[in-house]
Amino acid sequence: MVEPASPEHVRSIPKVELHVHVEGAARPSTLTNLARQNGIELPVQDLASLYAYEGLEDFIGAYDIVCRCLVSAADYERVTHESLELAHLAGVQYREMFFSPTFALRRGIPFKTVWQGLAAGVSEARKDFGIECKLILDIDKPSGPGPARELIDLALGCDREVLVGIGGDAGEDGVDLVAFVEPFEFARQQGFRTTMHLSEEGPASDIAVGVRQIGVDRVDHGFNLLKDMDLTREVVERQVPVTVCPTSNVEIGLLDSLSDHPAPAMRQHGVLVSINSDNAEMFRIDLADEFLRVQEAFGYGLADLEDLSIAAIQSSWLDDASKTEMKRQFTTRFQELRSEMGRTERAFEL
Ligand SMILES: [Zn+2]
Repeated sequence: MVEPASPEHVRSIPKVELHVHVEGAARPSTLTNLARQNGIELPVQDLASLYAYEGLEDFIGAYDIVCRCLVSAADYERVTHESLELAHLAGVQYREMFFSPTFALRRGIPFKTVWQGLAAGVSEARKDFGIECKLILDIDKPSGPGPARELIDLALGCDREVLVGIGGDAGEDGVDLVAFVEPFEFARQQGFRTTMHLSEEGPASDIAVGVRQIGVDRVDHGFNLLKDMDLTREVVERQVPVTVCPTSNVEIGLLDSLSDHPAPAMRQHGVLVSINSDNAEMFRIDLADEFLRVQEAFGYGLADLEDLSIAAIQSSWLDDASKTEMKRQFTTRFQELRSEMGRTERAFEL
């Protein structure tokens, strides 16, 4: 018998988030203020009015406008800190968060400015909210392998305790994914973990290139994975994590309703799935909202949500000892919450 958790309970469940973009997780009111401060003219009075999308390209257009608001290191620090505060309020204790410097570099903002702001925001949020955050530099796939390599070279100069991975974002249509084998191989040699947005809008064969040729450690979205069962078996066998973002897929128009999302079927096949908000503020959600939506749309109960939280720890790039410790802390908290909320205890096997 599936027993759903109350909204209060869902919000309190400790969580890990692995697929969220700092620019898309910034409050529209803050961005509008920053644009005003920076003398940036926006095409709309209220940025939030742009937050309705007719496809991925349209979404990336809105994303570019969001990025235009950010100019100084202090701007980046503010939105990083704020987005981590919002995450903290959603129960997130550990986050691996993307940033997309390509949008800033195109406008002549130095990489160093972006990085300094992000790193300061992460550090301040740790002090203020106890939330731990690592960063992932997202290369812009449509720009090709040359600019990707340049960004990876810049990443080498960052604090490697904070910058742990390289990702690949922004559309798949017409992108030659095989061209990223070399820069991503280089990134791995330099000690970075790698992930890539694969099959957000593209076919399952994009995931195959990512997993088999580029050798990514993780897959973001992986929407059409189950259309290739050989590949699914491989992903399950190797336990390549897939970070899904159901609300994002609906908001961007990839599917009509959350209940059509393949995540439950992926989990049934044994895929290591985590639930994520992707661009929290641009979709008007946080991770607690997303957990609640998933609970309702997929017919999940409290135990499923707890399992998803544990799956996210397992999918993270923490070392094994830290994962074990975090799972222990989370399950202890799960039991406390169950007792506070009048739910039966559960035996957790870790
Ligand atoms: Zn994303």
